[in-house]
Amino acid sequence: MPTYDPNNIFAKILRGELPCYKVYEDDKVFAFLDIMPRAPGHTLVLPKAPARNLLDIAPGDLAAVAAAAQKVAKAAMTAFNSDGITVQQFNEGAGGQVVFHLHVHVIPRKAGVPMKPPASEKEKPEILAEQAKALAAALQSG
Ligand code: 5GP
Repeated sequence: MPTYDPNNIFAKILRGELPCYKVYEDDKVFAFLDIMPRAPGHTLVLPKAPARNLLDIAPGDLAAVAAAAQKVAKAAMTAFNSDGITVQQFNEGAGGQVVFHLHVHVIPRKAGVPMKPPASEKEKPEILAEQAKALAAALQSG
């Protein structure tokens, strides 16, 4: 397997070199909105530690990501009045991974509304800002 590339786009976001719509942070995990959401509120949950994907992440970091993904999922149920949550995580190109810093997709769902295809459309900045605020508020009150 290739080694971790510290210049991947999510590593740059984690270092603050690129902007994001942050929704959650703790000592091991960072979460922000996907800029091309498959559904409103589509969030990416990442370990702060460098890990390419499921195949090289340290178990403790993986556990922290899983716990944070659950928090985000529960908050998204409230913030977006969701009917369900889809969780996805892709590994290597053959597994559908495009950005090579491990991330878990937490995607709020409405009954009967299909997800958009991956990376199909960039969401408007003002909508992402509003959704990040709503999700962060639900996370703080939950
Ligand atoms: P993967 O297939 O690697 O699991 O998914 C990568 C995800 O990153 C896609 O859902 C895509 O929309 C999202 N993405 C790509 N570039 C950026 C970016 O610059 N900022 C954010 N927030 N998301 C991105």
